[in-house]
Amino acid sequence: MPIDLDQRPILVFWETTRACGLACRHCRASAIAQPLPGELTTHEAVDFLGTLTGFGVPRPVLVATGGDVLMRRDLNLLAEEAAANRLPFALAPSVTPLLTAERIEALRRHGLKIASISLDGATAETHDGVRGIPGHFEETLEAIRMLRRHGVTVQVNTVVMRDTVEELPRIAQLVRDTGAGIWELFFLIQIGRGTELAELTPAENEEVCHFLVDASRYGFIVRTVEAPFFRRVVAERAQGGLPPRRALYARLAAGLRSELGEPDGPPRAQTKGTRDGRGIIFVGHDGELTPSGFLPYSLGNVRDDDIVEVYRDHPLLRSIRSASFSGRCGVCAFRDLCGGSRARAFAASGDPLGEDPACPFPS
Ligand code: SF4
Repeated sequence: MPIDLDQRPILVFWETTRACGLACRHCRASAIAQPLPGELTTHEAVDFLGTLTGFGVPRPVLVATGGDVLMRRDLNLLAEEAAANRLPFALAPSVTPLLTAERIEALRRHGLKIASISLDGATAETHDGVRGIPGHFEETLEAIRMLRRHGVTVQVNTVVMRDTVEELPRIAQLVRDTGAGIWELFFLIQIGRGTELAELTPAENEEVCHFLVDASRYGFIVRTVEAPFFRRVVAERAQGGLPPRRALYARLAAGLRSELGEPDGPPRAQTKGTRDGRGIIFVGHDGELTPSGFLPYSLGNVRDDDIVEVYRDHPLLRSIRSASFSGRCGVCAFRDLCGGSRARAFAASGDPLGEDPACPFPS
């Protein structure tokens, strides 16, 4: 069913807690060991889930994130409540000893169908370096296999950063070999612990996007977060556009063929025109509403405001949805399909309607 993105989001991200046993180098939430004061209580969380029915049908998918969502002791009850409200339920757990077969099975009985797991390197050395825990790489691969054994579709999340960009072909191979159905690539925003990491240049981002179009031909879906210009690249390639003749793309493309052989299917890349505040809304651990988890612009709070009204009527979200941007994004022929990362525009200039500096287009 086509979804009117002015009326309802496709995804509601809920940061259930900031507590997490890990301390990853790129953490958006700068997660900490204990829950912060002000986290939504069970009672408040149940009320919040009920308000999501106000979007009507199709219901948005509730994506429970953190911190580590498994640190919420009431998670089973909340999953049950989501099911009672007919909200499709997805989970973004951290890989820690809390991620057990019993916990997965209990959540699956409450309707869990998709879980995302972060994998930030193709080797133990790089992944464990990002996660800060020796042995975490193997535990992550085992977590993906365990979820698959329980019938849960796995989305592998990978942050694109300078230290690990050359490993992307081998990570693609792991995505395919573990049977994950979706590979989602996060392009850095200078927020949380991400401010300590090196972004790629706009030209390099373009090369990575072309590589991702290629990678999407190996049986899994490829999506990006905070790189909506990937959709422009997908559209350009579909119209016969060629990849750039530059060194990074050449190395990544050669690596892909060396690891995975010749592609065996058509591109399976995301083409929906969603962006922060258009098809997506974020609820913080304390109920704060923002256009996304990477765009700390307060739209209200679920304790006081109706999320349905905020999504439909907040002036900023209306401007984002109508692609009323300034700078290059404002004059770009792809501003509706892409629209640039609103979070990166905000981080760079303080204007959530400004241009996305990570995109080289129009060059
Ligand atoms: S200029 Fe802006 S709208 Fe156009 S492709 Fe780049 S990021 Fe997207």
